[in-house]
Amino acid sequence: MDHFLYRDGVLHAEDVPLPDIAAQVGTPFYCYSTATLTRHFHLFEQALAGMDHLICYSVKSLSNQAILRTLAKLGAGMDVVSGGEYRRARAAGVPGERIVFSGVGKTREEMVLALNDGIRQFNVESEAELVILSDIATGMGVRAPITLRVNPDVDAKTHEKIATGRKEDKFGVPISRARDIYAQAAQLPGIEVVGVDVHIGSQLTDLAPFEAAFTRIADLTRTLRADGHNIRRLDLGGGLGIPYTTSNETPPLPLDYGAMIQRVLGDLDVEVEIEPGRLIAGNAGILVAQVIYLKQGEGRDFLILDAAMNDLIRPAMYGAHHDIVPVIEPAPGFERRAVDIVGPVCESGDTFARQRDMPPLGAGDLVAFRSAGAYGAVMASEYNTRPLIPEVLVHRDHHAVIRPRPSFDEILNRDRLPAWLTD
Ligand SMILES: *Cc1c(COP(=O)(O)O)cnc(C)c1O
Repeated sequence: MDHFLYRDGVLHAEDVPLPDIAAQVGTPFYCYSTATLTRHFHLFEQALAGMDHLICYSVKSLSNQAILRTLAKLGAGMDVVSGGEYRRARAAGVPGERIVFSGVGKTREEMVLALNDGIRQFNVESEAELVILSDIATGMGVRAPITLRVNPDVDAKTHEKIATGRKEDKFGVPISRARDIYAQAAQLPGIEVVGVDVHIGSQLTDLAPFEAAFTRIADLTRTLRADGHNIRRLDLGGGLGIPYTTSNETPPLPLDYGAMIQRVLGDLDVEVEIEPGRLIAGNAGILVAQVIYLKQGEGRDFLILDAAMNDLIRPAMYGAHHDIVPVIEPAPGFERRAVDIVGPVCESGDTFARQRDMPPLGAGDLVAFRSAGAYGAVMASEYNTRPLIPEVLVHRDHHAVIRPRPSFDEILNRDRLPAWLTD
């Protein structure tokens, strides 16, 4: 359930009519719902109740500081994958002790930043990284708390580009080598082993791959403890999928996911961390766009929007489906007809949907892409010199622009002409 519903025939974000926001900020724009973010966060809290746990929201899914602050105030920690995201989380008021740092390519600068400013743990992904991190920590006179991200070699059965837990994927260290690397870590002066980490992919719609991975992690934890390591935290990653259509998808509920975690790991006496991104942010955001033209082609009609692949790349990049609905509810008894829904960018890949059955729509009408909160705004670019679109956060009957649309002057002034071109 989300908080984007029709009231008196007009789509609202909580108590705010979307046409009001469109009139104020212009289209296209992203719009997020505080109540939905809060609801999703609480679902995970309930799912893990009774277990020592920390929910580390995956910053990369939707990273605006207003979103991070909203979640931090509910008690969330954060999972970051870059120095930039670390800075965002800190700027949003999240203490270092609540931030975990993931990613295969952490640089020395990023390690120094986090060690200086506070970090809960580094989720280390290779021996090379472990050695460098120890080196840096030793130089700073501290010990870096770490988990090792283990690759359990399970197939998450998700989209090729977001599966991360098979042995051919670049992430983590093979579970078969984990014991050796933990032994090595224990010898490094700048390293303090605190746990084990796993993240097998995103948009998983079945609990079985999670359960297979967590079972392997539980076994590994027993082995590592027998080897003398103080494994007190298990970071289980993110990846729980969401319904992108109301009709045919029923991914597992957080409550069932939590029950499975408690069943598989409950007797280990560990603190559990999870890193959900999409499930918290995905259905808490929509993208609102306006129809520029209805173009009648040969045997095919095109609905040309003012939003494009640079604003929401998921359909072009993953072949992803987004429900697209009119902001003004069509009159009862309307007839649907199939149209291609496209943006203005000069690429055929700039297609949001092909032959989608839509109610009658024409120039000037507003539409909303549902489930666009996660991996939407954060993956946007200014391709075709299209300004990054604004982000708006709604809270009951309030709304605020949490990232304004840049002016063309701001965009053009970022370029610099070299001396030899400025005579
Ligand atoms: C992307 C990512 C997540 C979040 O995944 P979701 O599918 O959005 O829940 C969590 N942990 C790590 C390490 C990631 O790379």
